[in-house]
Amino acid sequence: MCQDKNHEQQGFTQKAQDHASGVSTASAELIAELVTANHILYDQGVLDAFGHVSVRHNQYPDRFVLARNMAPGLVQAEDIVEFDIDGNPFNAAGRAIYLERFIHGEIYKARPDVMAVVHSHSPSVVPFSVSKTSTLRATCHMAGFIGTSTPVFEIRHYAGDTNSLLITNNELGHGLAQSLGERSLVLMRGHGSTVVADSLRRAVYRAVYTELNAQIQAAAQQLGEVTFLSEGEVTETVRVIETQVTRAWDFWSIKAGATAKALAEQKSQLV
Ligand SMILES: [Zn+2]
Repeated sequence: MCQDKNHEQQGFTQKAQDHASGVSTASAELIAELVTANHILYDQGVLDAFGHVSVRHNQYPDRFVLARNMAPGLVQAEDIVEFDIDGNPFNAAGRAIYLERFIHGEIYKARPDVMAVVHSHSPSVVPFSVSKTSTLRATCHMAGFIGTSTPVFEIRHYAGDTNSLLITNNELGHGLAQSLGERSLVLMRGHGSTVVADSLRRAVYRAVYTELNAQIQAAAQQLGEVTFLSEGEVTETVRVIETQVTRAWDFWSIKAGATAKALAEQKSQLV
């Protein structure tokens, strides 16, 4: 059944009532790490003006933190909002919040092992979400986490064929979490992808390499028949290579910090 009318009423105002406390309990360290994740994902071409990254609260597992509704490259500590697992804010204070925040809460509900979620529309991945003949799969050693196939969430199964393709309520978020299952990555038909991990840094790494693997796979398939990673190689590359995530994080954060500083200066000149 199409529920877009409900979506308009619920989500498109982009604002929601704060919990009575009106305050965030997230630590400065957690918030700073999430700000850096936003900047890296923008700088690496995974997020543009759209898409978002969250991290589960490290003291209250039924909460998560996520930026307010804004471009990730511009996010600062004061823009981070704490949410309950149903997507209700604690300290939005009337500021607009992301329409698709339900992606995050419903995955945290379904997957206690998941500590961070990245939702993006990175452009090389989207073709695999609509292809009827090609599944996104691990093509290079850095992307073993993708495995030998990728599930695709079909929103029409939940919202009919007149829908915005956005995850604008908990029911749709639940459907997406079901499609993800126990995997690290789910594609969303005609929309993008969502990748998860047991840490924020690993989720950022996976989001970057999801996009790169899609580029590599598409290029390889242009050449003809492709040899993909086997099940055994998938397991072993994740076990060995994902111990190196911090090297990527440290390098990417330096580069992203410079980009974010330049963006903030340009923004201040416009105001
Ligand atoms: Zn989206």
